[in-house]
Amino acid sequence: MVESGLVLSIENTKKLAASARYRLNLFDSWLDRRVKRDHHPLTCAKGCFACCDLSVTVSWAEACLLRSVISNIPNGTFTSWVDRVVKLSSRYPEEDAFLEAYRCAIGTCPFLGITGECGIYAFRPLSCRMLVSELPSRYCGLNYNATANEAEHRELLIWQDGNDCMGPWLAGPVREARKIERILHQDSFHVYGVSIRGSLPVMLGLVRAGAEPGMELPYSPPILEVIHPLDAEKHGSSP
Ligand code: SF4
Ligand code: SF4
Repeated sequence: MVESGLVLSIENTKKLAASARYRLNLFDSWLDRRVKRDHHPLTCAKGCFACCDLSVTVSWAEACLLRSVISNIPNGTFTSWVDRVVKLSSRYPEEDAFLEAYRCAIGTCPFLGITGECGIYAFRPLSCRMLVSELPSRYCGLNYNATANEAEHRELLIWQDGNDCMGPWLAGPVREARKIERILHQDSFHVYGVSIRGSLPVMLGLVRAGAEPGMELPYSPPILEVIHPLDAEKHGSSP
């Protein structure tokens, strides 16, 4: 009985991983078409990583896809990442405060390679894919609350005036990613009746431990959120 439960769990993980793969490809195609249509080249390129110290949120289906790349970072680094994020969430239980503190408190994503390339590029979550900019990358790394960044902040406000954007990032890809994340939750509903979304290290820890949506899980917002079909509409990736 236990064994058949395990087989079912592996099958579910594979099924959701395949769905995430397919939907991430759809997002990439959408973005390619959008860039070609607008003739506005993006600054984003291999080795550009000023956004890689932001908190990354993933859906359960994406966590299933990422299961195979956890071994890309040493076990101790992974465990320490999870611990630090969990501790930060107890200090900042409100999502906005948690996201703001993350950049300084946690720092760069452990999947970032030493030459500034994403070590899991083909697998990277929607939260990473949706942040694209036409501005110099230094704008993506600025702390706009810091007085030292006042001049850049003013420049950004001027740029924002004529653009559909969220901070230095284009708003269209963020909206498209949110649509796709809602579909990923629907994929989880078909399997489990509910879905979950949460902080990248926490979700990877859960998928590695064999946990699944619908189980009682030891985390709560801002690092883990259970999503029910009736409130799925309001959910989407946040950077
Ligand atoms: S979002 Fe900004 S920092 Fe990230 S890859 Fe694009 S330009 Fe570089
Ligand atoms: S997964 Fe890759 S793109 Fe995303 S934050 Fe980490 S290194 Fe950057």
